[in-house]
Amino acid sequence: MPLQSEIFSKNTQGYDLHTHSTASDGSLTPQELIDTAIEYGITHLALSDHDTLKGFEIAHLHLQKLSSTLQLIPSVEFSSRWNATNGINLQDDGRGMTVHIVALNIDPQSPYIKNLITATQFARNERNQRLKIKLEKKGWQDVIQLAEELSAGATLTRTHIANAMLALNKVSKYAQAFSRYLGSGKPLSVHTKWPSIKETVNAIVQSEGIAVLAHPLHYQLSRKKLLQLCSDFKQVGGQALEVITGNPDKNAIENLTGIALRQNLAASVGSDFHAPKNGTVYLGVPQVLPQALTPVWEIW
Ligand code: AMP
Ligand code: MN
Ligand code: MN
Ligand code: MN
Repeated sequence: MPLQSEIFSKNTQGYDLHTHSTASDGSLTPQELIDTAIEYGITHLALSDHDTLKGFEIAHLHLQKLSSTLQLIPSVEFSSRWNATNGINLQDDGRGMTVHIVALNIDPQSPYIKNLITATQFARNERNQRLKIKLEKKGWQDVIQLAEELSAGATLTRTHIANAMLALNKVSKYAQAFSRYLGSGKPLSVHTKWPSIKETVNAIVQSEGIAVLAHPLHYQLSRKKLLQLCSDFKQVGGQALEVITGNPDKNAIENLTGIALRQNLAASVGSDFHAPKNGTVYLGVPQVLPQALTPVWEIW
């Protein structure tokens, strides 16, 4: 396996503020993620599992047993609902769209964060029930069963469903599970009543954290809608944009840098690491943030 330093030699900061473990839809256990981050020279790691702090708690206990200077940042990636403020129609049914908000450096004991986790998991469970009914109607009980085995009691996500579909040859590629079935507007997509971006950001701020709008370019919005999303996010108290997600091209970074400066938002960086690809663990990000931006770690 190549060393991280060989792949990402430009990442001098050592920050990775968006990662996943087996507590949600990642493939490394929280302990494995900590060990790998240390091995690869990460100095600040946020384990931001979907809608849970369980992975963080395990990672924190594991790190305490090691003599490492790695800083583990308490974090959660929350699913949230955005209804545009200015009448932009986001979906045909007008019920808003799902966006992800990474909570960074929260107080993990805060009742506000615990309540938000409970509310988000409630929405997820209700969504999963409806998704399971659709899968059953399609005769795909085997997909449900395998997805539940794969999630092994952790947060059940569409990643597990997609992996189960692939393993059972319902699709020939992982991405096809989303492009044919699970993606927005596809036959197995179900609307989820996630807490609103206002509720999500409020709870993060009340628990002393930084609310980061995750992977802004993944939503595939027109420029006008993306600007509206970032403006609405700032309006409800959001503090930062994930300017570098994974390994973006120069244009993507320039685009998001412009929006962050325009909206007066700080900037975060994260791999959104879920699983090794071709035997390589891509932790950290290959680029440094443009000088003009305020990194999130300067405001927490
Ligand atoms: P859920 O929160 O259960 O709706 O699942 C969302 C997760 O599915 C995301 O965190 C991604 O890991 C994964 N995902 C969503 N859309 C795609 C996509 N188009 N391609 C690959 N993975 C995706
Ligand atoms: Mn995920
Ligand atoms: Mn996400
Ligand atoms: Mn993520």
